[in-house]
Amino acid sequence: MELKLISKREDLQRKIITIKNMTIGGDEAVILAGPCAIEGREQIFKIAERVKAWGGHMLRGGAFKPRTSPYSFQGLGENGLQLMKEAGKYYDLPVVSEVMDTREVALMENYVDMLQIGSRNMQNYRLLREVGKGTKPVLLKRGMAATLEDWLMAAEYIAAEGNNNIILCERGIRTFSSYTRNTLDLSAVPIIKQLTYLPVIVDPSHGTGIRKLVSPMAKASIAAGADGIMVEIHPNPEEALSDGPQSLTFPDFERLSGEIKELDQFLRAKGMNY
Ligand code: PEP
Ligand code: MN
Repeated sequence: MELKLISKREDLQRKIITIKNMTIGGDEAVILAGPCAIEGREQIFKIAERVKAWGGHMLRGGAFKPRTSPYSFQGLGENGLQLMKEAGKYYDLPVVSEVMDTREVALMENYVDMLQIGSRNMQNYRLLREVGKGTKPVLLKRGMAATLEDWLMAAEYIAAEGNNNIILCERGIRTFSSYTRNTLDLSAVPIIKQLTYLPVIVDPSHGTGIRKLVSPMAKASIAAGADGIMVEIHPNPEEALSDGPQSLTFPDFERLSGEIKELDQFLRAKGMNY
């Protein structure tokens, strides 16, 4: 695989991406959390309050949702972005949301601190080039059927346009195993650390699709050397408009974020953060 721009090199430090008051790839594992979809003012403010209270670093929330079925909730669009921006500002949290279309990149840049490229768009080369022309950091999720090479080449597309503020996000791949929604490929984490200088985080929510598996796999991600995790949380997952079954409740999230912080400190103190 020929990585020209994102490969790890002796003369290059690991990339540390600074977004407002936080860094990704720095000296602390980051916790990105929020609802699958922004559903309204009350919901996003309630969630932002908990993310901040329990030491989360960034608020996530979908406004343009890439749903498998066209009949599922598609998101609140620009109105949702506005609500999340306000919640992020109020609770002093940077925000990230998915951009689905080249025509919406400029609009999204007004509302978010980081642009997410979703699994279904990982090989949308025009979209990759468009976010590569900007300066906002890009969270590049792994395509659900993407090899590591496909994924890293997608990152090269972004870097080729000048933007190397890229964070890779493992979110599970399709395999023959049907118990979980996807198969979380945690070996991707140390491989990426060996091949590139970019930070990598893990999304165990989409990676498993099952609430009870999210916390164990989040902790395993940190043990594998991930620079952080992204998890879906909801005040009342039973009533979530999307991805309720994989969303953590507030008590689940409180516990997980404490555990992640302790585990991260332990690993770093032992020199075991790769
Ligand atoms: C998401 O994180 O909101 C999402 C839709 O995830 P993915 O693109 O990994 O399916
Ligand atoms: Mn989701």
